[in-house]
Amino acid sequence: MPESSHIVFFDTTLRDGEQSPGCTMHPAEKLRMAHQLAALGVDVLEAGFAIASKGDSDSIREIAREVRGPRITSLARCKREDIEAAAKAVEPAGSSRIHVFLASSDLHLEAKLRITRTQALEQVAESVKLARSYTEDVEFSTEDGTRSDPDFLVKMIAIAVQAGASTINIPDTVGYTTPAEYTALFRMVRERVAGSEDVIYSTHCHDDLGMAVANSLAGIEGGARQVECTINGIGERAGNAALEEIAAALMVRRDKFPYTNHIVMTELYPTSQMLSELISFGCSPNKAVVGANAFAHESGIHQHGMLANPLTYEIMTPESVGANATNLVLGKHSGRRVLEQRLSELGYPLTRDQLDTVYHRFTELADRKKLIYDQDLLGLFVHDKAPTLTH
Ligand code: MN
Repeated sequence: MPESSHIVFFDTTLRDGEQSPGCTMHPAEKLRMAHQLAALGVDVLEAGFAIASKGDSDSIREIAREVRGPRITSLARCKREDIEAAAKAVEPAGSSRIHVFLASSDLHLEAKLRITRTQALEQVAESVKLARSYTEDVEFSTEDGTRSDPDFLVKMIAIAVQAGASTINIPDTVGYTTPAEYTALFRMVRERVAGSEDVIYSTHCHDDLGMAVANSLAGIEGGARQVECTINGIGERAGNAALEEIAAALMVRRDKFPYTNHIVMTELYPTSQMLSELISFGCSPNKAVVGANAFAHESGIHQHGMLANPLTYEIMTPESVGANATNLVLGKHSGRRVLEQRLSELGYPLTRDQLDTVYHRFTELADRKKLIYDQDLLGLFVHDKAPTLTH
């Protein structure tokens, strides 16, 4: 079975992300974000869930009209009115997709939808066909796919492919799977579903157990060639797989993942920053790739290494993801070398004896304060009479 060497980035910041607590955006904000996602180079942009509200469908339509580059898509349940609303919303787009989904797990079919497996399969066939009557590009998702009976999952996917879906997404809707299990699931499905060689399989992972990015990469290993993800990993509950982390992993570990993609890496940090401004929270400082501390070093041993050669403690440069330069933070774990460098940058080149004195005062101060600012460093000189320390 020939494997594509290109990874499609499907961004759902404006759908799965936006529907989570604290992430609501106004249409103008969604449009601004959509333009930025286009600059970032996402291939598919899920702009919303058209049937959810008039506001949502108007917003998708505006994005479809204004934003060029990514394929614009709307989510739709296996219902005629959903698919019609999605088709209408994405209609002005340069290129569009309709994304239809139905649960494949017995738990969801019985408890939520109250339909039988047979009814579910009928709905999939009808809905994918209806979506295909509006557009060539139809994606089908098996909601709760990772908790479904494998035989039934294969049956449902085969029916969706037969009905004309060209992308098949197997979501880990509740963040339940593990990397090895997810790899095996894609291998099994690709092997058993007829026509799989003409289909792009997709991951959609949630972070309930902190494995969303690892699982997405595991999906790629199993043959998936589309990843669904969000900026800063926002999304339902613990969030979706973070786009910036997947993109960085593919860049840093090209030896493991020799695939191409369209992401403009230097737009990662600006995109993350924009999202933080638009929603009600930013990401935690220790967030991978885009967090404030992602390229900050405080301990003396690490700072010494960084000054000698940044590769000692950084696997990628901050510049490569569009972030500000490496930040050597001065704190109680810092050594003389970085203190000497910072003071020299501030215009205070020190002799060895002077450095000893100032370093001693610095460690006393650092024991009392969590963060040391440049003004604090200058304050170390205030009661020092040595004229050589003036500049
Ligand atoms: Mn989701």
